[in-house]
Amino acid sequence: MEKSLHLEIVTPDKVVLSETVDYVGAPGFEGEFGILPNHIPFLAALRIGTLHYKVGGKTSDVFVSGGFAEISDNKVSILAESAERVEDIDVERARKAKERAEMRLAQERDRIDAARAQAALQRAIARINARNH
Ligand code: ATP
Repeated sequence: MEKSLHLEIVTPDKVVLSETVDYVGAPGFEGEFGILPNHIPFLAALRIGTLHYKVGGKTSDVFVSGGFAEISDNKVSILAESAERVEDIDVERARKAKERAEMRLAQERDRIDAARAQAALQRAIARINARNH
């Protein structure tokens, strides 16, 4: 029986994290789910939110903009459009992104613009919340 997991968080432009961990808590669409070593193979869609992982009793947090989690052979692979460690979040940048998204939503353009602005707004709010916890 393995006692640890390998967690890798990848975005189109970088490997955000590649680390041996004891536990991963991921923001699934139906709520947070936990992954311990020796988990069965599993694939899940993620929502915008915070992923937690534990190494030796210390918990760390990573913002993920949705994506997928794949678990197989004690490896947890997270594929996301964007992700960053919560301590690296620039709150001022997220506040500005939130204001821009709110302005775009107020300007009633087409539905695709509105959906993109809504997604940007959710990312900005989730980033601000992640830093306030
Ligand atoms: P912005 O409009 O400020 O770029 P966004 O939600 O459109 O926000 P993303 O497309 O999710 O940004 O991410 C683009 C890149 O910028 C990613 O590498 C992401 O990690 C980083 N990033 C976005 N917002 C922040 C932030 N507030 N603090 C730190 N890094 C950020």
